[in-house]
Amino acid sequence: MTFPSVLSSIKALPSQYALPGDPPTDKYLVPLSGGGDSSALAIVLKLLYPKVNFEYIFTDTKAEEIEIYSTLDKLELFLGKPITRIVGEKGLYDLIDTWGGFLPSATDRWCTRALKLEPFREWLKRYDGIQKHMFVAIRADESSRLAFTIEEVSTEMPFIEMGISREHVYSILQETIGIPKYYARRTRSGCSGCFYQRRSERTGLLQAEPIEFRRVMSYEKLAPVDEGRHLPAPSLTEEIGIALNWMSLPLPTKDTIPGRVKRQRSLSLIPENGIFVGAEFFFDGWQFGQSFIWHKRIVSYSSSLAGIKRQLQGRFAHLLSTYEALHLHSADEVRNQARFAIYYLQAPSEVFDPSGPISKASYTWHSGESYKQMEHIVTWSTRMLHAEGMRQQMKEYDGTPILSWEHEQQLLNHSALNKVSGETGVMINSMWFTPEEVAVEDEFDEKRTPCPMCQI
Ligand code: SF4
Repeated sequence: MTFPSVLSSIKALPSQYALPGDPPTDKYLVPLSGGGDSSALAIVLKLLYPKVNFEYIFTDTKAEEIEIYSTLDKLELFLGKPITRIVGEKGLYDLIDTWGGFLPSATDRWCTRALKLEPFREWLKRYDGIQKHMFVAIRADESSRLAFTIEEVSTEMPFIEMGISREHVYSILQETIGIPKYYARRTRSGCSGCFYQRRSERTGLLQAEPIEFRRVMSYEKLAPVDEGRHLPAPSLTEEIGIALNWMSLPLPTKDTIPGRVKRQRSLSLIPENGIFVGAEFFFDGWQFGQSFIWHKRIVSYSSSLAGIKRQLQGRFAHLLSTYEALHLHSADEVRNQARFAIYYLQAPSEVFDPSGPISKASYTWHSGESYKQMEHIVTWSTRMLHAEGMRQQMKEYDGTPILSWEHEQQLLNHSALNKVSGETGVMINSMWFTPEEVAVEDEFDEKRTPCPMCQI
């Protein structure tokens, strides 16, 4: 495979990369994570130096996103040689069990050492005494990120030397093996429960892979005071007998939420709890009232308006570079079709409790937040918004001709809402949010520290 357009765009970069060492005798090692950066680096090296005998290595945590394996399969086809897959006896979850439920975290990243670094070092021993070069996919736009280093191996960072940034990586992938589909909801490769994920990525895991979400959740240990909290919301669709794909999210009518969002005074004596929720809509064409929505979903939530705006900003930046994962053809299609809504939702505190674990003895993947709490918030927000969507549609179709589809829909919504016996909360306010275009999405990440081994 030559892929002349990719090759010529690489060669057109202002700086070029010169391979170090002596190819006939030295070892050229390309560790892969199954993610975009390391895959793109393997592709670039193969295209620039087709005669060099690169060795590709993947260390498996047995807790990887399932699609990582299909990315590796595609990459093997492109590279025309097998990838060495190092699979240890124990994976991430086995080790968590072995070590008494001790979860890895940004401050105690034993998973990287035990599942990536050590097996790789062990494998490297076969080349003791030989000059080794290891290629790490740290991009030019993240040059402050740490590269992992191993004694006796020289670490090479061709992307930094060539000035290859995130946008280059995605376009190299688009023109070769394609962008892995999990980039529709994730910004990095790695374990499905990785503690470096943003809240929006974990929300995406719940929506796309609920069984995997619950597997990750099952490894959290909550203290008795937290264990009984945060039940999932009762399913509105089951209560009313309408399938999920027929439910809609309400469409805001404003572009701002004026001033400070005030809690609505409850008519009962029970206090209310509120949350900001962000959602994305994809319109075919973009004209309110005339185009249709082909995709919509809740993206994330926050206790503050600024927090949810920041998350949607990051989501927009990510969509602009990974449009292919959402079956779009260009960043312009994202600009034209994607719109973001922010809602402020409120429900009685006896059913809705968005705050995190109370006990310091609760043991979670993310500080101050449990997966159970996340599921509680996302399922309750979905229930509240679906009920509000039906109310909105009823209002919209009020007075439509008796034999029209709209009138029929209004009757359907009316009878469905009458079947709801439980709480559905209220939407206090909503707005459209227009994110700005920014060059680097990481600026908007809330608390991420790079994981040098797992992106390799
Ligand atoms: S992806 Fe995350 S959880 Fe998995 S080994 Fe790397 S740091 Fe640990």
